[in-house]
Amino acid sequence: MAQPRIMEATLTILGIAQDGGVPHAGCSCARCMSAHADPSLRRHPVACGVRGGDGSMHLIEASRSLPDQMRLWAEALGAEGVARPDSVSLTHIHLGHIDGLGQFGKEVMGCSEVPLFASESVLDELSGRSVLGPFSAATVQPMERFSPSEGCGFEMEFVPVPHRDEHADTHAVVIRGGNRSVLFLPDHDDWNQTLHRHGAVSIRQWLTDLEVDIALLDGSFWDASELPGRDMSEIPHPPVSETLARLGERVEGDAEVHFIHLNHSNPLLGPGPQADELSDLGWGVVVQGQQFAL
Ligand SMILES: [Zn+2]
Ligand SMILES: [Zn+2]
Repeated sequence: MAQPRIMEATLTILGIAQDGGVPHAGCSCARCMSAHADPSLRRHPVACGVRGGDGSMHLIEASRSLPDQMRLWAEALGAEGVARPDSVSLTHIHLGHIDGLGQFGKEVMGCSEVPLFASESVLDELSGRSVLGPFSAATVQPMERFSPSEGCGFEMEFVPVPHRDEHADTHAVVIRGGNRSVLFLPDHDDWNQTLHRHGAVSIRQWLTDLEVDIALLDGSFWDASELPGRDMSEIPHPPVSETLARLGERVEGDAEVHFIHLNHSNPLLGPGPQADELSDLGWGVVVQGQQFAL
């Protein structure tokens, strides 16, 4: 009897922008105005999708760009039509990560019982906001590995990280396939706290401890001078320039590091000296639709 064909799990990048996306509401900067004029310059809020080895589809983060992201996901996989998630996972409860959840409900897709994986405090907070209707909420114990569906051929692991946890806590997600593992870390406050929490002295050591081959790291801002007139302490993220200073040049044996969750103001959204510096050091920025075989 022929064996069923086992595919490897594949991770697809579905959005690379910070919660506000590009163009950003209320902004008439040159980048946002170009994105109004040319839709190919638009960037969705951060999200990724993992197709399991059995063809099941698992979405991480539910942004308001869901309709476009589900088409992008299918297109990247060479499929017709649009992707339909079999499960949804959330890192935390800030706007851009959850504002697509309502689209699974009666008003749009009419789903029911889609598993929603998130921490207990995230699910508690969402139930208070009445958006759990279409979902069968499933709590994830931090640090415990699980498969989002039987036969998907990969595991996920929620890793706690500090991040302005006013309403609920925040996690990164490690996606572990048969061959490679990816760290998805869209938001955290600062490296000292994150590394301290995990008993690591450096980013390198933490990535080694996590046993990941690819790290998708919070790249919200290039540096602290980026948002004149806004108090950056209200929106803490480690600037990319600091992450690069900590990492230095990529050396043999290092994980691949790519930055995600870029604010509309981040110069890494286009070509320039910052993008050159990043690639000269051996690191990168992912593009929408980019895939990683797991
Ligand atoms: Zn965010
Ligand atoms: Zn802008």
